[in-house]
Amino acid sequence: MVIYNIIPKPNKYVYGDSEYEISSKSEVLCSKEFVEAGNYLTDYLKTKPEENEGFIKIKKVEGMPSEAYTLKITNDGVFINAGDYAGAFYGAVTLKTILMQAKKQNGKAVLNTLVIEDKPDNAYRGAMLDCSRHFFEIDTVKSLLDNMAFLKLNKFHWHLSDDQGFRIESKQFPELNKIGSKRASRHLKGFGMENDNVEDYHFYTQEEIKDIVAYAKQRNIEIIPEIDLPGHTMAILAAKPELSCTGEKAEVLTVNGISKAILCAGNEAVFEFLDKLFDEICPLFPSAQFHIGGDEAFRGYKLWDDCPKCSALKQKEGIGSNKELQIWFMNRACAILKKHGKTPVAWDDCMGDSLDSSIACQFWRPNAIGTVRKQSLKRDVIISSTSYFYFDLKYSVISLKKAYKFNKVKVGLNKPGQRILGLECELWTEWIDSKASLEFSAFPRMNAFAEVAWTELKNRSFTDFYKRLAWYKTYMKIKDVNYSRVESGFILPKGIVYHLGEDGSEFKKSAEIKNAEK
Ligand SMILES: [Zn+2]
Repeated sequence: MVIYNIIPKPNKYVYGDSEYEISSKSEVLCSKEFVEAGNYLTDYLKTKPEENEGFIKIKKVEGMPSEAYTLKITNDGVFINAGDYAGAFYGAVTLKTILMQAKKQNGKAVLNTLVIEDKPDNAYRGAMLDCSRHFFEIDTVKSLLDNMAFLKLNKFHWHLSDDQGFRIESKQFPELNKIGSKRASRHLKGFGMENDNVEDYHFYTQEEIKDIVAYAKQRNIEIIPEIDLPGHTMAILAAKPELSCTGEKAEVLTVNGISKAILCAGNEAVFEFLDKLFDEICPLFPSAQFHIGGDEAFRGYKLWDDCPKCSALKQKEGIGSNKELQIWFMNRACAILKKHGKTPVAWDDCMGDSLDSSIACQFWRPNAIGTVRKQSLKRDVIISSTSYFYFDLKYSVISLKKAYKFNKVKVGLNKPGQRILGLECELWTEWIDSKASLEFSAFPRMNAFAEVAWTELKNRSFTDFYKRLAWYKTYMKIKDVNYSRVESGFILPKGIVYHLGEDGSEFKKSAEIKNAEK
């Protein structure tokens, strides 16, 4: 009997002692809502059905929980039951994984009989990609979505605007692209990517975005765009300097780091701009959520202090601090977004009791845990702690094992009444400038993350996960995914070097091991 290596580990399964054969001649039968899930299998099997050659049935069953599925491989056939498309798709993903690993005999896959009853521990299982610091071609984004879907991740948080570039086409404001999507150097200064003075000019057209959204949807992945506000806005302000407190000319940042750029809170034109921009962008993304950043804006607080418009607003509204002014700003942005049918998400920096409670909190700073615990009683929370899930950090800082060891109970985010939506891993790209370096940082840590997000704590074991991971490494090799061969710290260079690319040592070491494997 072959024991299948499945990540994330199904929450309940029992192996039988019999077999069933599936081949490209087997039929895939689906309820009409689940045709795309069936196509995921037929694309793999290259099905040309013939009679009496076996079948796979994907059937809608009312009343099953969202995203849940059962997979039964019996002597009579293969049966996937689910209540929604997500469940049907995940049943198909599990079956595809099994088909790939099954014993092959006379051109057929010989499957062990088994019963799997599975559903995710967290409804939100996401990954974020920063396309501002470095831009990634559509094929790279799609390849990431493929790998995410194979690990049953269902949210793609797309960081589309930051100091280093605005990456989404705006027909309303063409200057956001002509100026904001362009910077003087492709690379941000750093290891292997010194400023090369070759112009970087990239954004996704609205047609490309629609294509990616549809591609993600087939894979049960929802795309949540982020336009970071009111800080991290140098690219926007380079295009629209009239929206800053000083009105001074600005340039898109060509180095790593966070600028002091901030949108003026006291200028109504800022909110008119956001209204028009959201009106244009929101319809491109079917997701109910929309991320509005809110992080690290304090770097621009001095500009607010010195601004007559911001000062006048504080006085008029009785706002005592810049933190409160930021909350006032986020609440305005929230009201505009709601008008366009979206629910906002923001980083934990801007949380406070006066912040609109419909704004979900994305937890990232470990020292904000107290605030987040408290806020989780009144608003939704997404956990993406820097200590576990920032996969742009070195493996010597977040090892594969460390990513796997995250436990909601230990951080006190599992209590009754707390509104925890789920988990998200982050791929910031100051130091990630290629598909190869992106895959190196993401994998295999994303495999660990996917299991932490899907599989219940009582069913998780790192030793067991690590054994199953061996098959996924072979799979990634075949798929030419440049997963890291370094999984834990080997030499931690002196000084504070956190990000993967900062001295390039891990990347080089991984390449050495990869070459030795050949
Ligand atoms: Zn101002």
